[in-house]
Order: sequence, then structure tokens, then C-alpha cells
Amino acid sequence: METKLKAYLVGGGIGSLAAAAFMIRDGHLPGGNITIFEAAPILGGSLDGAGDPVHGYSLRGGRMLTTDNYECTWDLFKTIPSLSFAGQSVFDETVAFNVEHPPHSMARLVDRQRAKVPVTSMGFSMKDRSELLRLSCTDEDIMDGSAITDWLSPGFFETEFWYMWATTFAFQPWHSAVEFKRYLHRFLMEFTRIETLAGVKRTIYNQYDSLVLPLQAWLKGQGVHLITDCKVTDFEHEFVDGKFTVTAIHCLRQDKSEVIAVNAGDLVFMQNASMTDASTLGSMTSAPRKLNKGFSGGWALWEKLAEGRPQFGNPAAFNRCIAQSCWESFTVTLKNPEFFYKMKRFSGNDAGTGGLVTFKDSNWLMSIVLAHQPHFPDQPVDMQVFWGYALFPDRVGNFVPKPMSECSGAEILQELCGHLRFDMESVESAICIPCRMPYITSMFMPRMEGDRPLPVPMGSGNFAFISQFVEIPGDVVFTVEYSVRAAQMAVYELLHIDRKVPPIKRHDRSLTVQIKALLKAFK
Ligand SMILES: Cc1cc2nc3c(=O)[nH]c(=O)nc-3n(C[C@H](O)[C@H](O)[C@H](O)COP(=O)(O)OP(=O)(O)OC[C@H]3O[C@@H](n4cnc5c(N)ncnc54)[C@H](O)[C@@H]3O)c2cc1C
Repeated sequence: METKLKAYLVGGGIGSLAAAAFMIRDGHLPGGNITIFEAAPILGGSLDGAGDPVHGYSLRGGRMLTTDNYECTWDLFKTIPSLSFAGQSVFDETVAFNVEHPPHSMARLVDRQRAKVPVTSMGFSMKDRSELLRLSCTDEDIMDGSAITDWLSPGFFETEFWYMWATTFAFQPWHSAVEFKRYLHRFLMEFTRIETLAGVKRTIYNQYDSLVLPLQAWLKGQGVHLITDCKVTDFEHEFVDGKFTVTAIHCLRQDKSEVIAVNAGDLVFMQNASMTDASTLGSMTSAPRKLNKGFSGGWALWEKLAEGRPQFGNPAAFNRCIAQSCWESFTVTLKNPEFFYKMKRFSGNDAGTGGLVTFKDSNWLMSIVLAHQPHFPDQPVDMQVFWGYALFPDRVGNFVPKPMSECSGAEILQELCGHLRFDMESVESAICIPCRMPYITSMFMPRMEGDRPLPVPMGSGNFAFISQFVEIPGDVVFTVEYSVRAAQMAVYELLHIDRKVPPIKRHDRSLTVQIKALLKAFK
């Protein structure tokens, strides 16, 4: 029987792309019945990767994945064909790549003398251990709205563990204690190998090329309508049988207003906000512009919807303080292998096997990652690309007398070479593109129960949220997995799909993992 149901997805991040795929694969909705509206000129949202050999490449982020978690992500990508290897799925190619290039970091932390810090001990005092144990055993409702600093003493934030955990996952001391606790549970296996990052899985190229493009190609092949340069500005709604039901979508398509009717039975999914909203790129000679949500309008639709509707959450909990949610990343394109040679000599790792190298005493708290090369499919063999980031861009540097937020790409390279004690010649002719992200850790801000809506909010008839700002018990934000899980939950509920969303694996309940973690904490 031909289905008349249509689905509209607002936002073209991995969450929406995944939702479209689940509707087709598991809900048997024809692709032609699905439309995605994306405000940006390309799909993929935060999972970007752009540039060329002449102007330099840029990535807002480089992603670490695992195969011990990421249940929904791999459930999806097991059925999405690879663009590089005929007959293989994206999951197959990723697993094979990681078998060939296993991560084993040998220079996870570097101190102010440029010495590699021994990290087999986590550096805990007895007080740290007991406070950490108390935090990890406390119920979320008791921790509601609190920050990590409400639970752990100042000494904890000087431990090797904190430097590794905080820079692996981008936590700050003022972030949500609930989220920090969830991370300890969800990634307990990573706790046992945090110093080598041995559990981390990487994609072959950057995640735009390795995850977004294959999924986009598959959706296109299924006939999904992918509409870019189209910003949704409002919804019309009515209450049908007492349920909030979207009846029309207002959008600006290439700056022209359009209204799309949503008929009875049709579904609407919305990506409420984005961690990369209002992000800006700089250049070798200029720092990124400092924008906010007032300029981008990226939170406006959620704010409008949530006004007077507590079941749609509380965006202000997340976007209220840029000083607490902003950091900067940078991407470096090199035309000379010297920097990579020197890094190999210093760290002991070939590119792609080391993971994050963090300069733990740097004022900016700077880290870099040298991924396996090439990191872009069109990258020439004599070029290298690496990514880095810093958690405190508002602080004056150690080698550049300026906050990172005011630095050009050239100045960021000067600071980096200072920490590494490398000559500036090793980055001669490099292109460094800085990227400011004012809301990058907005999902980590302390929150109260109810600040995030459920994927399908209470009292919703045909409407769901898919994002990092929904409530999924037991799962952790700042992951691809969270958005894909939100998508799978929302789609299965609204389409009444009789298949289980893959459950979160409870490694924290495994006795072996618990013993390993305790041994690690007491080492
Ligand atoms: C620097 C960085 C490092 C990261 N590291 C990791 C990591 O190591 N491991 C990991 O798993 N994850 C990591 N992540 C997180 C991961 O990339 C994100 O969680 C994920 O990509 C979010 O996807 P999303 O679809 O929910 O949202 P987004 O990617 O933010 O997409 C939302 C999209 O919706 C669009 N949109 C919003 N409102 C509208 C509207 N009204 N009209 C039209 N379009 C709209 C936006 O333009 C955007 O494109 C990292 C992210 C960054 C930026």
C-alpha cells in the first residue's frame, strides 16, 4: 500500500540524516516522502571538514569514537555502504582501518619543560578517591543543577586523571556534575585506558568525508529531498485530540519566505540548537570574529517554542554564558613534513596512532592530534593536516602575549611551537585556520531536570526533537552517538516501529571492568 505520510526534518546534522535513514530502513517510508531543511549551504552540521590544498583545510572538530559504546551509531552505519570500498559498510571500513592503525598514545601529557608526564598513575589522593566514588554513586536528582566543583575539591583538578579526562572529553570544572557522573559510568572502560587512548576508534578520513558523505549519498539514492540554504523560522500548530500538532512550517529559502503545509498524519522533527552555532573561522592573519546567538539566530526557534511550554525544555540553561561554553580549535595544513617528523621523534607515535597530546601547563590548555594521513581524500601526498584545540582561549598565552581569542593562525602556531620547543621553520608555509565556537560546551552547562525535552515531548502529536539538547537517560552528550540515539528513539516512537533501539551497554555493571577501574584509581 502506498504511504501518504510525509516527514519533515529541520536541520541537516547527523541527527536528522540518521532519522531519515531509520525512517527508510526500519519504518519503510519511501525516501521521496522525506524532506530535510538545512540553514547552511551543506549538510552535516557540526561534522564538518572543508577546504583545499591552496587555501588550507579546516575542521571544527576531530572525533573520537568507540566500538564498545556508540550502539546506535554503528547500528546505523552497518547498513550504510562505504564510498571507498565496494561491498563494505562504513562500519566495516572503520573497524578494518582501526585494526590496521591501533591507537596507543605515548605522549598523552606534556609538562612546561616539554617532558612527557608519566601517566600510569592517575595522581589521586585518598580524598580525591572518596569524593569521586561519592559523586559516581549519587543519584542524579540529588545532583540536579550542581557543578563538578560542588563535588570535588581543588586538588582533584590538578591530577593527571583530570588533565586527561577533561581534555579527552572537553570538560571544565564548572560543568554539570550530572553529566560528569554519566561520563564516568558510560565510559568506564575508557577510564581504565585513558592514558593510552587505546579504546578510541577513528574514521579513515575526517568525519564529513567518512560519515556524512556516505550517509548523504545513501539518502540521495533513496530519493530524500535535501534542501540547503533554508532556515526554518516558525511553526504553525494546533491541538489535535489535546496534542501539540505542527500544521505548517515557515522557512526562509535562499532568503525568500515559504510556507509548507504539514498535513494530518505527517511528522516534523526539529534539531533544537547546535553546539557549533555562531562559530567563525579566522585566518593566518586574523582572529575569528566574536559572534553570538543574537547574530546567528540559531537558538531562536527553540526559544520561541519553549516559551510557556516547560515540556519543550529551557534553552537558557545552556546558552546563558558564553564565557563558560566557548573554546577554540584550529586546523593546520602543512606543506613540509618536518613538523610531523619532529612530532614522531618527540612523541614516539606515528601520525594516527597517538591521539591527543596535551600541554598540561599551557595557559590556554592546548592539545593537538595528528591523525593518519591523508585526512582529506583530495589531500596531496606531500601535505599534512592536523587539528588542535584549547580549553581556555580567554587567557594570555605562554609564548604569545595575547589571549588565544585575539590570535591569528600565525600566532597560534608560534604558541604551539613554543610549547614543543620547535623552530618556527618546522611550520614554515603552514596555513593555520582558527575556529571560535561560543556554544561548543553549552550541552555541559549545569542543568536541572526538565531543562531538556524528551525526544518526543509529553503531549506531542506529530513533533519530536533530535539533538544534543534532549533527555536520554544514561547517555552522554558531546557525542555523535547521542544525536543518532535521539533520532532512533524519536523515529521509532512516532512511526510505531516494532524494533528495539539498541540498549546502552552497561560496562559499568561488569565486575571485570569495575575491578580494572578500581585498580587504576588506586595505582
Ligand atoms: C570540536 C568538536 C569536537 C567533537 N568531538 C567529538 C568526539 O570526539 N566524539 C563524538 O562522538 N562527538 C564529538 N563531537 C560532537 C558531534 O560532532 C556532535 O554531537 C554531532 O555532530 C551533533 O550532531 P547534531 O545533528 O545533533 O547537531 P548539529 O551537527 O549541530 O546539526 C544541527 C544542524 O541543524 C541546523 N539547524 C538548526 N536550526 C535550524 C533551523 N531553524 N533551520 C534549518 N536548519 C537548522 C544547523 O545549521 C545544523 O547544521 C564533537 C563536535 C565538535 C564541534
